[in-house]
Order: sequence, then C-alpha cells, then structure tokens
Amino acid sequence: MKLPLIAMTMDQSPAADIRPFSKGADLYFLNAAYNRYLEKADCLPLALPTWLDFSRIPGLIAAIDGLLLTGGDDVFAGAYGEEVIPGQWRIDPPRTFFEIELVAEALRQQKPVFGICRGCQMINVALGGTLYQDIPSQVADAIQHRSPDKPRWNYHGVHIEQQTLLSKILDAPSLRVTTSHHQAIKVVGQGLRVSAHSQDGIIEAIEAPGHAFVLGVQWHPETMDDDSSSRLLLQSFLDQCRK
Ligand code: MN
Repeated sequence: MKLPLIAMTMDQSPAADIRPFSKGADLYFLNAAYNRYLEKADCLPLALPTWLDFSRIPGLIAAIDGLLLTGGDDVFAGAYGEEVIPGQWRIDPPRTFFEIELVAEALRQQKPVFGICRGCQMINVALGGTLYQDIPSQVADAIQHRSPDKPRWNYHGVHIEQQTLLSKILDAPSLRVTTSHHQAIKVVGQGLRVSAHSQDGIIEAIEAPGHAFVLGVQWHPETMDDDSSSRLLLQSFLDQCRK
C-alpha cells in the first residue's frame, strides 16, 4: 500500500530573532510534536519551509496527498485587512501569505487540509475570515486559552456541534483539550462552518462542508498523547489522504 505523503508547514526564526537557537542564522523549524503525531500513523511526513515563489505551489500540492498546517507565530493581520495591534508577539507575514496560497490551491485540487491552532486560523483567513489578534485584550470574559507558564499546558472544554464532520469523527458532545493560543477566529470565512466552541464563545473548530476533509482545530491534538480524539482526527485525515 502506498503511504500518503503529508506536508507540514514550518515556523521561521529569522536571523534577527531573539530566540537563542537562531545564533544569527535564518532558520526554518518544526516543533517535533507534529512529527511524532504523524509518526503514530501510516504516512510519509514532509516538512515544508515557507516559499516566496508561489508559482510552484500548484505542482507542490499536486505532489502531496494532504496538507497539515501546524501551529506557530501569529498570523499577519494585514492579510485580512486589519492594522496589527501593538504587542510583543512574533508575527510571520511571509508564512501567512504562503499558507493562504497553499490552502487555496489545496481546495482547488480537492486535497485534504488539517489545520492545528494557527493552522485552524489560517484556513479561516485563507477563505476571507478574520481573527481576534489578542483574546485577552479583545474578548471580554474570555477563559484562559494560553498557559501563563509554558511549557506547562492549559486545558479547557470544547462543545462540539452536532451534524458536523467533527462530531462524526469524534462521536462525543464535548472534549477536554490542550490549549495554547491568544488569537482566535472572529468572522468566519466563506464556505466554512463552526464545529466547536469553548464556554466563552471562542470558536475552537471549523470545517468546510463542501470538501471531504478541510478541518481546523484550535487545540493541540499532537500534544494529547494517547487521547483517542487525537488518534481519530489523524486517522480520519489520513483516510481521506489515501483516496
Ligand atoms: Mn482555546
């Protein structure tokens, strides 16, 4: 059996980055948790650095069986027509525009797309949606969506909407998830529907009903170890990638 080839988008640490591991070099990197997650199932993982030449994206998407949009630095608000609000967060405009093109082309070619955390937000932005740039300062009465003392994880519950792809995959009305985000979906993009939210109303999952598998989750299945929901999400994604 041919194993599906899954491309994972990467984060960047530019030469001027304060992160000490850069040591003045311009690096792309990938949190190993995503690789470990894919390793648990039958597939071939491939790390995909941000490209500036978009002309090769159609060929790239044609060559892969599925696209996994990973977490990482903030989505660039200019991509959805907003001024960036002042803050200390790292923002990645090149990756933002690259992933918009990747998602658009994957949709054109009917390739499965699975977005995790920032990846969930990217699916939304690629389809014309917008984000809250900072939940604590823009959403009143929001619960804690990011641990103040990373690398320890924060947890919260999510309510899953019935009659959605997500509810079919998980077969549960709610779920306890790891959470680490300060941005979130504000206006939902075209052709998307909300498939989960937290108790404060923050959108925690979206999907594109017109496609076999275009799903974004705001939580981190790759860090939930042997949680059955994480396995089910990955299996469902890969099942579609094999078709
Ligand atoms: Mn959350």
